[in-house]
Amino acid sequence: MAPSGYRGRFAPSPTGDLHFGSLLAAFGSWLLARHAGGRWLVRVEDLDPPREVAGAARRQLDALRAFGLESDEEIVWQSRRSTLYEAALVKLLQDGRAFYCHCSRTDLATVAGVHRACVASRLRPDPAVRLRVDDGSVVAFDDAIAGRIEQDVAREVGDFVLRRADGFWAYQLAVVVDDADQGITDVVRGADLLDSTPRQILLQRALGLPTPRYVHLPLVLGPDGRKLSKSDAAQPVDAAEPVATLRAAWARLRQAPDALADARDVAHLLARAVASFDPTRIPRHDAGPHEM
Ligand code: GLU
Repeated sequence: MAPSGYRGRFAPSPTGDLHFGSLLAAFGSWLLARHAGGRWLVRVEDLDPPREVAGAARRQLDALRAFGLESDEEIVWQSRRSTLYEAALVKLLQDGRAFYCHCSRTDLATVAGVHRACVASRLRPDPAVRLRVDDGSVVAFDDAIAGRIEQDVAREVGDFVLRRADGFWAYQLAVVVDDADQGITDVVRGADLLDSTPRQILLQRALGLPTPRYVHLPLVLGPDGRKLSKSDAAQPVDAAEPVATLRAAWARLRQAPDALADARDVAHLLARAVASFDPTRIPRHDAGPHEM
């Protein structure tokens, strides 16, 4: 383990090529791990074959390598870890925290999509498994960038899926099991996942697992002061121009503008980046309309 004990990770889903938004999450989580003298791990979240794009996982890993962002430990593939997820599911079922659910999408549409009790119109051969979320399950946590976040999980989300009716594991269960199994102390990822964090904390508590610290990187401004739009963020990154692309990501994280100006190659750039990275420069989520 690193002297600091810090363990971070980047956990892409292979649903397409690495895009600029995910490079920001990768680079941001890597910088924070290095800044803390910690380790940085890569986990491939290949749990959803219907949404997977053939060859995308390999291409994402190749791109990360081109950017010099390499896992400090063996890469973990979620598709090979069913035994761990099964054990967690069995424990939750045995503890009465999880239950089989026959509700279909159509059934749930009658209750605004929020599962509070089963409303299934018929039994199905392949029920999903959900976590029971008790009334009043309000989860609060302090995000290092987003600030205090609070969600009434029962009201806003309801009982949520752990194993889908099609037999695939839900992201929420796998991410909680894996973060704990890999000893992750600090989860750094995009702000699009802020909404999932209260569910993950509830699951950690139900399984008796520790809660890591959370940093959700905001959507940040381009160098021209404009918001980074979804379509910009979704552009595949150009791994053939790693220095230019990393400089762009550095600018989006609002780091010292000239720090990487004379970087000769990726290794030199990353060394420069670690030396001058300042987490307090990352823009806050609540810093006004320009920042969002
Ligand atoms: N696999 C998720 C994604 O690509 C990220 C999971 C996480 O960082 O917790 O959106």
